[in-house]
Amino acid sequence: MFKYRMFKKSILFVALLLIITLIVGCTQIQSVKTQPDSPGSQNSKDNKWFVLRGDLHCHSSFSVDSNAPIETVVSDSVKAGYDFISLTEHNTQEHLKYLKEEYSNDDLIIIPGYEWTLKRVHMNMFGLYEFEEKLGLDTFEEINSYIDYIHELGSIVQINHPNWKALYAQFALSIPGDLMEVWNGPFGTDDKKTLKDWQNLLTEGKKIIATAGRDEHENYLNNSPVNNVYAEEKTAENIFENIKKGHLYITAMKDCSDIWLSCGDAIMGDTVEYAKGSQIYLKIEKLPHNAKIKIYSNKGIEFEEIYDASKNTAYEKEFLVEEDKSFYRVEVWSAAVSIPLGISNPIYIENENQNE
Ligand SMILES: [Zn+2]
Ligand SMILES: [Zn+2]
Repeated sequence: MFKYRMFKKSILFVALLLIITLIVGCTQIQSVKTQPDSPGSQNSKDNKWFVLRGDLHCHSSFSVDSNAPIETVVSDSVKAGYDFISLTEHNTQEHLKYLKEEYSNDDLIIIPGYEWTLKRVHMNMFGLYEFEEKLGLDTFEEINSYIDYIHELGSIVQINHPNWKALYAQFALSIPGDLMEVWNGPFGTDDKKTLKDWQNLLTEGKKIIATAGRDEHENYLNNSPVNNVYAEEKTAENIFENIKKGHLYITAMKDCSDIWLSCGDAIMGDTVEYAKGSQIYLKIEKLPHNAKIKIYSNKGIEFEEIYDASKNTAYEKEFLVEEDKSFYRVEVWSAAVSIPLGISNPIYIENENQNE
């Protein structure tokens, strides 16, 4: 029997979120919304993006370690303010047969998911309703060749909570996933470690999309953390395509530190060719006073700044792309408690001269 990940760190974390909500001004309790938000979209030249909020990791009673009916997961996730979720059950496709009958509606899009739960690593796969299951795989080679098969089917693989203590983090980090869950459940020391590991992998030149997951088994009114996807349409296909491209940023909760990062027409997740004089544009909205903004590259922290809310404007910054940089990404940290409020995916810079 597997010992599944259950609940961790929850009560303390909920208290921390409440502190942020009450004291520093992020609002999290929202009614169901009918129109997608569009923070930052006015900065895009073609103005096509809006933001959809979602969870990429949760369980219902189709998993052996949850008793929640899918109907509860769905209705409570809508109340929590999510536009989409993925139900990622442990080692079963039964829920996918159930969901196949067009379960998504205008309030909530459901992206097919599955948590491939092995002894040494847990991985989420998205976008598939049917595939050949392979349980009990243990070696890097076996897992790698199965991931090839999953890729051939058009799906993507997410490395889940790699620093969870019951797993072998170094093994999980060596698996060539498309996405990495840098934030799993309440943000804790393991997530802090994963965030550093992700930075190291990016610095090594890997392109891995950072995601977050509630990994809920019980309380779906919980609305932390959130994946904010830049999408063109509110459909499962479009959300999936944009997740695949890394067009997303993580926030501690809904309506908190919305990040826009662009370089010309490229947005976070995209790759641009290095050109002398090209600029990165950053805009962050809904920032609490004294929030710390950190811009990272492959050389570590590039800029660090404390936000002054008394100016009553969004945070904006424009800076030149430097020749020896292979990516830029942003983190926003709360001044009140030691958790991130927002984490963007990188804009990658390709430089022929550097790579030769
Ligand atoms: Zn897991
Ligand atoms: Zn899980």
